[in-house]
Amino acid sequence: MSTGSGNWIRQPKRWAVHVRDGLRCQWCGVVIPDVESYTLDHLRPRSQGGGHGESNLVTSCHGCNSLRRDMAWWEFASLFPGARGRIERARRRSIARHRKMVKRLISSLGYQGAREALIQEAQERAEAQEMT
Ligand SMILES: [Zn+2]
Repeated sequence: MSTGSGNWIRQPKRWAVHVRDGLRCQWCGVVIPDVESYTLDHLRPRSQGGGHGESNLVTSCHGCNSLRRDMAWWEFASLFPGARGRIERARRRSIARHRKMVKRLISSLGYQGAREALIQEAQERAEAQEMT
């Protein structure tokens, strides 16, 4: 199993980044409640020495991820209104408490149960926002 330095980013970390980012693609802004609908995008690309640190990782939908390729992040962000500010805020926030929460969910509900719990929570949050 990975120690965190290889190519593999473990589930709790991956999901925690998506939760930190509000289950929103940080480029185009689309919100999808399923943590498995996203990819992690490296702001500084792996091919240019970018690491797996949380401040280098943002939530991306599949469309944006394949569109961007190795474009500089600020250049790609300039294509979407609000993306640059969204990303600058996201990368300053710690994922520590989200990671703890995701780990707790996985250990008590299993992988699939945790995924469903996160989907349900995201939907409830979206509905609550619509009502205000
Ligand atoms: Zn997107």
